[in-house]
Amino acid sequence: MHNQPSFQDVSELRFAVNGPVFLPTDPGFAAETAAFNLATVHAPDLAFGALDADDVAAAVRWAAARNIPVAVQSTGHGATNMVESGLLISTRRMLELSIDPLERTARVGAGVKWKALADAAAVHGLMGLSGSTSDVGIIGYTLGGGLPVLGRRYGFASDHVVSFDLVTADGTLRVVDAAGEPELFALLRGGKGNLGIVTAIEFRLFPDDALYGGGIHYPGESAAQVLEAFAAWAPGLPEDASASLAFVRLPDMELVPGPLRGKFLVHLRFAHQGDPVLAARLLEPMRACAPVMMDSTGPLPYSAFDAIHQDPDSPVPVRECGFLLSGIDAGAREAILARLGAGVESPVLIAELRLLGGALRGVPGSDCVGGRDAAYSFFMAGIAVPPTMAPLQEALHGVRAALEPWSTGRTFVNLHGHSADAADRSRAWDPESYRRLAEAKAALDPQNLFRFGPVVEPLRAAADTAPAPV
Ligand SMILES: Cc1cc2nc3c(=O)[nH]c(=O)nc-3n(C[C@H](O)[C@H](O)[C@H](O)COP(=O)(O)OP(=O)(O)OC[C@H]3O[C@@H](n4cnc5c(N)ncnc54)[C@H](O)[C@@H]3O)c2cc1C
Repeated sequence: MHNQPSFQDVSELRFAVNGPVFLPTDPGFAAETAAFNLATVHAPDLAFGALDADDVAAAVRWAAARNIPVAVQSTGHGATNMVESGLLISTRRMLELSIDPLERTARVGAGVKWKALADAAAVHGLMGLSGSTSDVGIIGYTLGGGLPVLGRRYGFASDHVVSFDLVTADGTLRVVDAAGEPELFALLRGGKGNLGIVTAIEFRLFPDDALYGGGIHYPGESAAQVLEAFAAWAPGLPEDASASLAFVRLPDMELVPGPLRGKFLVHLRFAHQGDPVLAARLLEPMRACAPVMMDSTGPLPYSAFDAIHQDPDSPVPVRECGFLLSGIDAGAREAILARLGAGVESPVLIAELRLLGGALRGVPGSDCVGGRDAAYSFFMAGIAVPPTMAPLQEALHGVRAALEPWSTGRTFVNLHGHSADAADRSRAWDPESYRRLAEAKAALDPQNLFRFGPVVEPLRAAADTAPAPV
């Protein structure tokens, strides 16, 4: 149960904060709540554009006192489920960004995207551990672990966080680091937005030199032989190299360049940091395994890392589904090809197998990042508009069911996709991490104020209905 804000509540929020407050009838409401994923149209009771950490704290105190649930959004890249009530806090105005080139650290506010950090760090010959696109928010990504382009070399982005500025459900702002609050620090790394709103983080940077990366495109007809070659090649790569293979069905839409419209392609993505001669040699088997349509691999400035995965850079309506695999033996490859290979009609626009392992294995139990033991991440997405929704959902479920024998039973929270219910969301954590998160949530957020997105249920779920502290 939660309360709906009254007219007086709204006036009191406006008085308590400096950023803009929007009612659903206000002209700025749609823009304030808009998500990158156009399939998700949030409908909270109220939206608020926070200017800084004090603003976030004041809004959370306001919501806690009225038992009004709170959601947070930076870019809406992770908007897989809709926010249907309560207060949506938008952090996109929180653009603090500073770099300490001597300490090799960065501090960013909750609205900063990877693009801004990559450009600022490059000036100092440094880079952060960004994922496949520079358009996602650093904090949302990192709270989910953050699977970087160079993850096999450096581990998850959250492995390199120095501290979090966190507003908890009681509206207090605290700095959380390994020395001061080790358990909370561990739970924030991979625990997503369960325990509060992170208003800023500090994290380590790395030298950005000697990146060799890009993509190789093959015609879809070669899907079977490329997948076969990838399965034989990828597990033998050194940790300095990361790779993924995507089956891409380009839509028959104007946004796709004419000759590629409606085509089925296979896209190998590759990133290596180190000797470029070695990188080129590592790629040889994949250059030779099938006819190549386009090869853009080569030395690349890190700030141009978007060229590796070539993710969409403008908002699209999508439905996503991801899970983790223990391997891709012949049976798994057959299952993939039967549902997504050449000659198959599928509304799944992209299906990506991303090699894990290397430094991503980290130290299990030291944080809440799931999937450290998995061999591959498998992620799919398709255009989610009414005519394609039902067949898309059916196709996503079909592929997931077909790959069940090779699934670890877990998902990577950032790439989980739409979640059906609490049981489905819980697949993002192993049982022990889930228990620790639920216990911390019961202590820090007994009202379950932060109940949107990929969240756990507090251990004392009945506390959801407890009277609000005043
Ligand atoms: C094209 C594309 C490529 C991607 N590639 C990768 C990849 O390579 N590696 C990877 O790890 N992930 C990847 N992702 C997933 C992405 O990291 C997640 O969707 C992430 O949640 C995006 O964060 P955001 O803040 O931009 O999104 P938002 O939708 O704004 O936020 C998503 C969720 O993050 C949490 N959150 C955001 N901000 C805060 C905050 N300040 N405090 C507390 N919680 C917060 C909340 O739970 C929120 O619901 C990709 C996503 C897309 C769409």
